[in-house]
Amino acid sequence: MAVEDSMVQVVVRVRPPTPRELESQRPPVVQVVDERVLVFDPEETDGGFLGLKWGSTHEGPKKKSKDLTFVFDRVFGEAATQQDVFQHTTHGILDSFLQGYNCSVFAYGATGAGKTHTMLGSEGDPGIMYLTTMELYRRLEARREEKRFEVLISYQEVYNEQIHDLLEPKGPLAIREDPDKGVVVQGLSFHQPTSAEQLLGMLTRGNRNRTQHPTDANATSSRSHAIFQIFVKQHDRVPGLTQALRVAKMSLIDLAGSERASSTHAKGERLREGANINRSLLALINVLNALADAKGRKSHVPYRDSKLTRLLKDSIGGNCRTVMIAAISPSSLAYEDTYNTLKYADRAKEI
Ligand code: ADP
Ligand code: MG
Repeated sequence: MAVEDSMVQVVVRVRPPTPRELESQRPPVVQVVDERVLVFDPEETDGGFLGLKWGSTHEGPKKKSKDLTFVFDRVFGEAATQQDVFQHTTHGILDSFLQGYNCSVFAYGATGAGKTHTMLGSEGDPGIMYLTTMELYRRLEARREEKRFEVLISYQEVYNEQIHDLLEPKGPLAIREDPDKGVVVQGLSFHQPTSAEQLLGMLTRGNRNRTQHPTDANATSSRSHAIFQIFVKQHDRVPGLTQALRVAKMSLIDLAGSERASSTHAKGERLREGANINRSLLALINVLNALADAKGRKSHVPYRDSKLTRLLKDSIGGNCRTVMIAAISPSSLAYEDTYNTLKYADRAKEI
C-alpha cells in the first residue's frame, strides 16, 4: 500500500523555540534532516572548538547523545506554515471523507508543544480546523450540480471524563450508540456557519469555553480534549433514481497534554483530574496500540474504556482514515517529553 493510501499517517511538527527556550542557550535536541527524517538528540558534529559547545559551560561533561533517527510520513520544521501542515495532512484524506469514510486527525504531544496552535491556531493564523472546513466548503460548492449536501459542525470537549458542548455550554452530555447514526452525543448542538468569519468566531468562542486550569507545570496547561467535528450529508442528484444518501464525519482533536501527571505535583482535585485525563488519553493510546497489534488479525480493541474512545469508536480503525500529528518542542528543556512523543509517534506508524 502506498504511503498516501495507508489508513494511518503519522507526521511530526517541530515548533519554533519560545523566547524562554532561546534564553536558555541550550542546543536544540531535534534536527530536521528532510521532509521525512529527523534526528533526536544528535551527536554534536561541530561547535566543540574551544569549548564553545552549547550549554557545555556549567554542566560539565555532556552525557552521550542518543542520536536517534526517526522516519515519518512527513516532518514539519519550525518554518512550516499552517497551510503546509494542512496540505500534507487533512487535505490528503478529504477525498476519502467525501466518499463517505469517517476520518480523524489528532494533535498529540506535551503541553506547550504546539497542539492548539496546529489545530485551532489564532484568528490571524488559523489552523487545521478552520482550513479543513473552508476547503470542504470549496469542494462541495464545486460539486453542487451532482449533489445536494448539508454540512454541520460541532465542538465539544472531554474533560474529567465528562463531555461538554463548547458552542452551547450546558450540563455534561451522554453518549449513545445508534444503529443507524453511529455514535451520538445526546443534546450536542450542531451549527451551519455561513461564512468564514462566522466559522472563525465559533472556533474562538468554543476555545474560550474550554476548561483550563493552571498547574505547576504550565500556567496555560490544558487538561481537556477538544473535539471539532464536521458532518457531511450528501444526496446524489440522479434523475429518476432513488437518491443515495451518504453521511460521513471528520473529527479534528486537540488532545490534552501527554506529559505524565506525576511530573506536575498534582494533589487533591487536580490529581483526580490528572487520573481521568490519563484515562481518556491512555485509552486512546491503548486503542491505537490494539489496532497496531491487530493488523491482519482479529483482536479486542478497548473502545469502551473512556469517553474519548467511545466518542471516536466509529472514527478510528476499520475503513477510517486517521492522521496523527505529533507536536514537539525543539528545546532540550523539553527533552523527556519530546523523546516520549517521538517514541509514541513511531509506534503509531505500525497501525
Ligand atoms: P499546546 O496546545 O500543545 O499546549 P500551544 O499550541 O499552545 O501548545 O503552543 C505553545 C506556544 O507556542 C504558544 O504560545 C503558541 O502560540 C506557540 N507555537 C506553537 N506552535 C507554533 C508554531 N508552529 N509557530 C509559532 N508559534 C507556535
Ligand atoms: Mg493547547
